[in-house]
Amino acid sequence: MSYKHKKRFGQHFLNDNEILEKIISYADLRENDTVWEIGPGMGALTDKLIQNNIRLNLFEIDNDLIPILKTKYSNKCNIIHQDILKINWQQELENKIVKIVSNLPYQISSPFLYKISENYNSFETVVIMLQKEVAKRICSTSGKKDYGVLSLKIQFFFNTEYLFEVPPEKFTPPPEVNSSVIKLTPRKDIKFSYNTKFFWQLVENSFRNRRKTLRNNLKIYALPKEILNSDTCPIDLNRRGETLSEEEFITLHNFICKFTSC
Ligand code: SAM
Repeated sequence: MSYKHKKRFGQHFLNDNEILEKIISYADLRENDTVWEIGPGMGALTDKLIQNNIRLNLFEIDNDLIPILKTKYSNKCNIIHQDILKINWQQELENKIVKIVSNLPYQISSPFLYKISENYNSFETVVIMLQKEVAKRICSTSGKKDYGVLSLKIQFFFNTEYLFEVPPEKFTPPPEVNSSVIKLTPRKDIKFSYNTKFFWQLVENSFRNRRKTLRNNLKIYALPKEILNSDTCPIDLNRRGETLSEEEFITLHNFICKFTSC
């Protein structure tokens, strides 16, 4: 069927059976699972998803795709004509545990990641295709080149797995960037739940200038001498933010909070 792809909706449709099968296999689907596919497009992934005995919800923003999806899948799944960023996530997820499978439109990656982090407890697994560079940043660990605020923010809520890369020719039309599939699984060990505003501010400031040490990046707080003194501070402030793990950021945060009204 001829169809004019819309750039504004990030429409790069998968055209490779092997890649599609691989994505589905990582989703680890079981009978009666509730699965959300974000942006089914013409149904490349949907065709594989419906072969499983699952409750499938498709969220598609594009008016022109809805009749195509209805013809193909009306009796087989729920077709929701909505912008995924505008649904009421809490209401839609109430009392449900959902698996997400999606070849995401890249322009919604950041707000989408924010939404799933906010609701991380409602997901069993999230298997998504993203721009390679973003996927790398999400899955990176301290000391590595791609490690930063995004790695910490996503890994605070999810265990992350970098699965595989997908070159542009596997899509129609091909995107200008490489893509990668990742898997997120909610962490069961999130203990740190207070004063998150200051915690994330501290993390962001620690990465403000990647080349600078913590001592320099954190000057804006005018920290008291107990913290700046290398004998008492449990984290060496001559290190750079990019070398600190989540646990070390929590240690630093807790230490600063002992001496300031953070
Ligand atoms: N799943 C199909 C595939 O793999 O061939 C299409 C993937 S394509 C990268 C992204 C899809 O998401 C398109 O169908 C696009 O119309 C849809 N889309 C874009 N923005 C969306 C949004 N905010 N909410 C829901 N769907 C969206």
